Amino acid sequence: MARNIGSRYTAHQILGRGSAGTVWLGEGPEGPVAIKLLREDLASDQELVGRFVQERTALLGLHHPRVVAVRDLVVDGNDLALVMELVRGTDLRTRLDRERRLAPEAAVAVVADVADGLAAAHAAGVVHRDVKPENILLDMEGPIGPGGSHPALLTDFGIAKLIDTPRRTKATRIIGTPDYLAPEIVEGLPPRAAVDIYALATVLYELLAGFTPFGGGHPGAVLRRHVTETVVPLPGIPDELWQLLVQCLAKAPASRLRAGELAARLREQLPQLAGIPSLEVDEPDAEPTQEERSYAETDDQRAAAEQPRRRGAVPLVPGAAPDSNRDTHTSMRVPAPDELAGGARGTARAPRAAGQRRPGSARHKAEAVRKRRITLGVTAALLIAVLGVGGWLATSSDGAERVPGGTAPTAAPVP
Ligand code: ADP
Ligand code: MG
Repeated sequence: MARNIGSRYTAHQILGRGSAGTVWLGEGPEGPVAIKLLREDLASDQELVGRFVQERTALLGLHHPRVVAVRDLVVDGNDLALVMELVRGTDLRTRLDRERRLAPEAAVAVVADVADGLAAAHAAGVVHRDVKPENILLDMEGPIGPGGSHPALLTDFGIAKLIDTPRRTKATRIIGTPDYLAPEIVEGLPPRAAVDIYALATVLYELLAGFTPFGGGHPGAVLRRHVTETVVPLPGIPDELWQLLVQCLAKAPASRLRAGELAARLREQLPQLAGIPSLEVDEPDAEPTQEERSYAETDDQRAAAEQPRRRGAVPLVPGAAPDSNRDTHTSMRVPAPDELAGGARGTARAPRAAGQRRPGSARHKAEAVRKRRITLGVTAALLIAVLGVGGWLATSSDGAERVPGGTAPTAAPVP
């Protein structure tokens, strides 16, 4: 059933549903497009609509072959829609769910594409802030590259600022997808371009391993691991690739590579990676640890802690159906410095080579009491309902993120 969106677009058929709304296959004056129609509760928020109009220029200004272009923003009656370049294919999460993990060459090719897109955005002064497999689309109509990978494009770029309002984003709260959040965000620093590098390195690790380096269990535990734990080598990973990962997962933002350099370094490695099969790594600790159990304070949280872990996503909304976890965000109090730095640095859940026995969790038990102190203002369920903007991270209160040295964003400042 066709539906008009503004005077220029027609939505024909649902392509998919996200947490911010529904994406339609549509038609515009220049041919087929993808139309993201925002959820009614978001579309009826007057403050958001105002911001939507203000940010038009910034959103429409980012053009790069590895970035899904936003073609138009439509405000029409009750409809609030984002008209995007249509990508015929699938998202990276779907591919990862299907294949479990990618061969190093394919993983590196995908991540190098995304790094190219990020380089362009960072040069324009825009930080994405929500890099994750759900926001990477694979163009199945594009040419097949190294490792049999189709071109990858980053989507939901800079859209966060539409949804964010000063009223909604309190400086003391973290809003984001826990598995991919850089430690400096957890520590309450303003997100700069390096947060995207950290998130992208997390994606690379996940493509290779089948799970994220610091994910699993309660969001609070995930956030803490970003700050205090070090990433554990993946069995069988080529050394040069591992060095690159470690550098981009560095706790200090300044130690991470810039996007353009990351893309180049990844591409350099492609020839050596050709033909290497996907790594044989068993997922660590599928059972909830004592640590995670210790976080649960309500019945809902206890029930969530007992749920099996999903790769690359954590249950943020207690009782949510597994599928609805894909893009959910968390929002919680930033832990105080002493809560984060209280103990010795740990080591992330150690991945085991396939067949190896699971290590005991004594370390987790020993630390559990201290970790309990990290009181989590998990107003997630509530705030997600309000902020539920799917793959869109709320940005700081002043419109587009700025990269030092980047050109000023074209968006008008919010009054
Ligand atoms: P949200 O970020 O709001 O959760 P998504 O962006 O993930 O929503 O969109 C939901 C679905 O629509 C996804 O499965 C994705 O594959 C599809 N989709 C999103 N953008 C496009 C696009 N530009 N072209 C084609 N399909 C798209
Ligand atoms: Mg998304």
